[in-house]
Amino acid sequence: MELAHCLIEAHGQDFLKPIAEQFHWHNQKLYDELLDQQLVEEKDLLELVSKLQNTRFIEDPTGFTPIDDFAGKVDIGYAKKHGFIIGTFNNQLTLLLAKPFKNNGFRFAEEVVESEKFEVALATENQVKSLLDMAYRMRNQESKPESLDVEDLGNELQETDNLMNVRDKSPLVRMFYESLTYAVDNGASDIHYQPTQEQMVIRMRIDGVLQDVRQVPRYQMDALISLIKVMGAMDIAERRKTQDGRATRWYSDKKIDIRISIVPTSYGERAVMRLLIKTAKLLDVEELGLMNENRKKMDAVLNNFNNGIVLLTGPTGSGKSTTLCAVLTTLQTLRKGDNIMTIEDPIEYELEGISQLEVQIKKNVTFATGLRALVRQDPDIMMVGEIRDQETANMAVQAALTGHLVFSTMHTNDAPGSISRLQDLGVESYLIASSVVVMMAQRLLRRICKNCKETYEPSDAELEKLNIDRSIVTHGFQRGRGCPECFGRGYRGRMGIYEILLMNDIIREQIVEKINTSAIKRDALKRGEMRSLRMDGIEKILLGMTTTEEVLRMTQTDIY
Ligand SMILES: [Zn+2]
Repeated sequence: MELAHCLIEAHGQDFLKPIAEQFHWHNQKLYDELLDQQLVEEKDLLELVSKLQNTRFIEDPTGFTPIDDFAGKVDIGYAKKHGFIIGTFNNQLTLLLAKPFKNNGFRFAEEVVESEKFEVALATENQVKSLLDMAYRMRNQESKPESLDVEDLGNELQETDNLMNVRDKSPLVRMFYESLTYAVDNGASDIHYQPTQEQMVIRMRIDGVLQDVRQVPRYQMDALISLIKVMGAMDIAERRKTQDGRATRWYSDKKIDIRISIVPTSYGERAVMRLLIKTAKLLDVEELGLMNENRKKMDAVLNNFNNGIVLLTGPTGSGKSTTLCAVLTTLQTLRKGDNIMTIEDPIEYELEGISQLEVQIKKNVTFATGLRALVRQDPDIMMVGEIRDQETANMAVQAALTGHLVFSTMHTNDAPGSISRLQDLGVESYLIASSVVVMMAQRLLRRICKNCKETYEPSDAELEKLNIDRSIVTHGFQRGRGCPECFGRGYRGRMGIYEILLMNDIIREQIVEKINTSAIKRDALKRGEMRSLRMDGIEKILLGMTTTEEVLRMTQTDIY
């Protein structure tokens, strides 16, 4: 009630009308909703609440040190969910809260620090999270005696499938689950367990880049690999062959699907876990970073296209499935009466209202057989995870020619490259020309951290690398200095760059005449029918979204 009151005082009577009824003026819910809808800056809100509660708002918690073995006393996942950490700040024992109206932190602090007095202060959610990550990294070895008995550890591991629930586990099991928690919190797509001569290094791919996270001493290595095998239902005794497995775990309400691969190397077995988070927030087409011309083309596809093949190209990890899922979700709301079906490997996002099949080689469900089954289900719109063989390619063409809108992906460098790939797969050129309607390529680039962004004047050399003239640089370039919120990387999150080519009569003729695809691309650029990946990247540098380094790194093969 009090929060609502203060907000009305500060912003006027109407400020809360749109959301207040729904949230019954409940403090924490109202607080979360204000931030979700970006009605107020988090810092301003914290400042307001700190006055209300007579606590302190710490704008810059640099120097805050978590209490000894904080991570050993509370599940990091739990502390993150409820937004609190205990430590010392300016020699004062402090409970730092990111969710000011939740009392879980209080209950915990009273239990842990016992009779000692502590101060309560507020900080932003990102700041509390990065402090919790720091606590996790500096975690003590626990007092519980360490067992490396694989059978015991395996049983412990299988006892729980929830990462929020690991406090009473053995050190190794706990460390293993905590590395998963850390990966999910930091948006890692893969975790690598890489043996070296001295130790095992745990590395994670975050925003597309591999980073070392922690080390595991050599004596724990075998037990750790065994745990991974137990989780993936693999053969523990087999150490010389490659193995694949999969598992499911939960983290709060997020379902994590894990694909595991183990290969023997000269230093021991190496494991990679690919993480797929099922309830990860799905992007709307609005949020993909499609701008101007590209946005108009995508709108045309969404609103006007009823049949043909829409091909999305790019290497693994370029965000193709995210884009396709966003497109399908948008189509689902735009075209309520349409039957939308997919065949995927694996299903990365569960899409409401869309029927999804998963490739299962053992049960003979492949892209080709799956697609054949889909066609018999009277679909209007279909998505085939990938076209990589002749059978799938031919069937996608047939489906398109018989009045279906088919979305799929291919591994080629640029959008027109998909034409020559289809030719390589044995599809007749006239069939390609009459079925493909859109060719699209994309890459994911790291986004500059908003918290430590700064402006600078690019040098002549930098402009030369991008092949642009200084006259178009009106507001300088931007870069991230590096700060706690981005772990000193200067980047946080990613976004897409795109090139989109719509089929037209000129291109159809060129395909039938088997003109090579780089000539097709050059002509289309000349006619102004498309912008290259590089050009889209440059626009995003000029808008301060990413850096020259990122654009050059991801568009090396783009000569235009
Ligand atoms: Zn930063």
